Amino acid sequence: MAWSATKTKNTRKDVVDTESKQVAAEAPYIPVIPGEQPYVHFWGTRGSIPVSGPRFVRHGGNTSCVAIGVGDECFVIDAGSGIRDLGLRLLSRGPCRIHLFITHTHWDHIQGFPFFAPLFIPGYEVVIYGGPGFGKDLKSIFRGQLDRDYFPVQFEDMCANIDFQILEGESLTLDNFKIEWESTHHPAATLGFKTTWKGRTVGYVSDNEFLPGFQGAPHALNENSEIVAAHSKLIGFLKDVDLLIHEAQYTNEEYVTKIGWGHSSLTNACLLAKLTRAKRWIIPHHDPLHDDIALASKLNLTREILRSLDYPIEVSHAFDELIAYF
Ligand SMILES: [Zn+2]
Ligand SMILES: [Zn+2]
Repeated sequence: MAWSATKTKNTRKDVVDTESKQVAAEAPYIPVIPGEQPYVHFWGTRGSIPVSGPRFVRHGGNTSCVAIGVGDECFVIDAGSGIRDLGLRLLSRGPCRIHLFITHTHWDHIQGFPFFAPLFIPGYEVVIYGGPGFGKDLKSIFRGQLDRDYFPVQFEDMCANIDFQILEGESLTLDNFKIEWESTHHPAATLGFKTTWKGRTVGYVSDNEFLPGFQGAPHALNENSEIVAAHSKLIGFLKDVDLLIHEAQYTNEEYVTKIGWGHSSLTNACLLAKLTRAKRWIIPHHDPLHDDIALASKLNLTREILRSLDYPIEVSHAFDELIAYF
């Protein structure tokens, strides 16, 4: 019958409704990072001196500062200019205790300290940890930055409770994070840090000249090679980390004239990554001469070198505001 024929024929609207009901019946697939995941938040990834301008927008120009944590629980390594933005972020959480570890006291690792906002607010506590062996004591170095000749605000004007501690022994524990340290090869007493959270590890070595003076091809070298053996302590310290954060500041061409300046050539850094057997590598502490284009090209070369070393792990460049889970 005409009536029933009309009744049973689906219109386009009916079909669309049916389709959308079928889709709605299944929960949408929305992947999320599972549970608690420890992270490294890079706030400053430039070495030596901050840079700015259109040639540096992709990687950013702030000097060394990272926060390592999980959820709201975190600690900080280095107080380069990147710590200024971190400080503004921490203000939104209200007064808390901040643990700040310093690899060494070269400018690019402390110059953001006078601009770290929590220092000026009552209720915040800031504990600053540094290794033994600095020329002056840690407090004098930080206080010196606030000398009236350099800065308008004085250390005494900082209202936070500030405490300085020398890192003695080999490790300490903060909440669920174990933090260990080891000396690196760099002018001035310099530390690298390793953090373990529930079995996951990240090594942070911002400044390290691996194999000083070595300009040859790294392929024939191994842990038993005489020049490598001198670095066995640091290699052992970083062995098998889930995430290695280690500089590779100079191209091999640049390294020829910068031997002894405390930073690794690209190929020497690649060899170190291989010898540590790190699972993943993020490179920080970019040279101020290296703009975004230069860094993109350098990263491609890094991947080629790792392939030629038969160690093609995932490698990337740190940039300001990168959050890397490990
Ligand atoms: Zn540095
Ligand atoms: Zn340095």
